[in-house]
Amino acid sequence: MAKDAETSKPKHLDPTSEYYLSSQANSGNSLTKDTLKGDNYVAWEQSAILTLKSHNELAFIDGRITKPDPKSEDFFAWDIVNSTLCSWICNSLDPPIRATVSRLNEARLIWNSLKTRYSIPNRPRIYKLWSDASMTTQGGASVMTYYMKLLGMWDELLTLSPLESCGCPKGLPDGLQTNAIKIGSVSLADDITLRHVLYVPNLAVNLIYVSCLATDANCFMAFSYDICVLQDRTSKSPIGLGKMHRGVFVFQPLSTATVAAVSESESYELWHRRMGHPFSQPLIHLPTVSVVSPSLKTICDVCCRAKHTRTVFPDSTNRAMDIFGLIHCDIWGPYRVTTISGAKYFLTIVDDYSRAVWVHLMHDKGQTGTLLRNFCNMVHTQFGKLVKIIRSDNGMNLIPSP
Ligand SMILES: [Zn+2]
Repeated sequence: MAKDAETSKPKHLDPTSEYYLSSQANSGNSLTKDTLKGDNYVAWEQSAILTLKSHNELAFIDGRITKPDPKSEDFFAWDIVNSTLCSWICNSLDPPIRATVSRLNEARLIWNSLKTRYSIPNRPRIYKLWSDASMTTQGGASVMTYYMKLLGMWDELLTLSPLESCGCPKGLPDGLQTNAIKIGSVSLADDITLRHVLYVPNLAVNLIYVSCLATDANCFMAFSYDICVLQDRTSKSPIGLGKMHRGVFVFQPLSTATVAAVSESESYELWHRRMGHPFSQPLIHLPTVSVVSPSLKTICDVCCRAKHTRTVFPDSTNRAMDIFGLIHCDIWGPYRVTTISGAKYFLTIVDDYSRAVWVHLMHDKGQTGTLLRNFCNMVHTQFGKLVKIIRSDNGMNLIPSP
């Protein structure tokens, strides 16, 4: 009778059953002390897994115990444990997050839903951790506090971007086999990142397959008896170098430098500008200049502008007292390109009082007189004014050509 009573014990109360739920576990508990707010998923998950392990309920979350058939005798016990776990998880979530999983009635589904949303590589968080770790200073804290703070950041970084596990045997150059335990990426130089790099604890040197390097660095490689050069496939610039040492090419990154082409013919003009436009005598003492003829092939525009002796025109203080009391006119041209209408000159008229400007295009200078007469008529008609004085720089321009 006693044996029968023992076997009829509900599975969730039987310590030997996988559905056993300890008497201390009740649905009012929370899975973790700190609630999940989204950005603290990593810490929340670690704490939650510890709690689940301590209650021996992790199998419900990681899929080792699946939902039994509702008609089976296990379903009742599973349902009790599942409901308790659902309650634990939901009690450890921030209310807005809890609302998003309220329709899920299976602990494993809730867990996976949270994991899918919050454990994806969180690049802003990774960037912030990198920034914080690089900016963290000891300040007034003790070495131990400072160390623990940094350790926390590195741990979270490692969790956010974990190395993929790899347990497959790999052949070594000496013919032996060993196991690579991790696989990840390694930055070889600024522009070269090797992917799927295997970490073999027993291997004391870093070996690179030439084929992998050519693929990942997208480069050409040229080998000679003592050197191996890596060239960028597009720019053809060298990006890496391998120097022979004891029968092995040892990789060395190259810092890229861009050099502008300099021809000897430009050397004198270039150094003339660099040295602040001196005359030719000091420049011929420069080794790069002495090999070429010490004379400017073209006239230096800066020298002409900067070294002329005439003083600038003083600012005029005279101004006409009334509109159209004085107008200035000037003719410019001929320009080497004509307009669509065939004009090569233009006549500029400036009112001295208002500084208003009128510009007229002209085929030849002979049109000047007509345009000026028309302008005076326009002023009289439009503004009721008379042009009193017309001033120009050179009266010859205004004389109509024969
Ligand atoms: Zn100059």
